[in-house]
Amino acid sequence: MWIDDDRLTQEDFGIGTYPKKCPICGKDSIHLLMYRHSEMSTNGACWIWCSSCEKYSHMNVTIPDWWDNYNRLGSDKLFASPEHNIDDERENIDKWVNKLINEKVDTPKEEPKSINDDKTLYVIKINTQKILTEEKAELAAQLCRCDKEQAINMIENHGFELYPMPAADISLVKKELECKKFNFTVSPEYKW
Ligand SMILES: [Zn+2]
Repeated sequence: MWIDDDRLTQEDFGIGTYPKKCPICGKDSIHLLMYRHSEMSTNGACWIWCSSCEKYSHMNVTIPDWWDNYNRLGSDKLFASPEHNIDDERENIDKWVNKLINEKVDTPKEEPKSINDDKTLYVIKINTQKILTEEKAELAAQLCRCDKEQAINMIENHGFELYPMPAADISLVKKELECKKFNFTVSPEYKW
């Protein structure tokens, strides 16, 4: 049973990595979620809860600048007690919060000015799919660096991940794949 417990209001949110140590039961299962009421507002709500001992605190807070709402739970899915929705999402919420905290530490981050300044390495994954045309088989062989039959087998059985490439190269490969109507994904998310 979930019990509101004021001892959790002391949580120093915005530092460290979630889940954090619970001041009540000692387990590493403290989670945090905030909700900004509107984009321009600093008013919002905060939940701090322990998924082990089921203590929680729900309060109104001033939302810090670095916070972005977790978009898988809109205001209609948020209730005072974590047992409704938010505790079920705790792993994803932890990831979300940790990401926001990490980015906060890293800011200000300069965006690369052009595709050639982007030092990120991107990976294209050709998703599992049937290769039905000769054109596709040829490109597949070229990208997988093997003969057509092997390339077709690989892609049809489990897809194929290409070597990490800088943005400038990725944009060329991406164009070719699009042109031949391949189904593929680029990670980290392709920006250009
Ligand atoms: Zn606890």
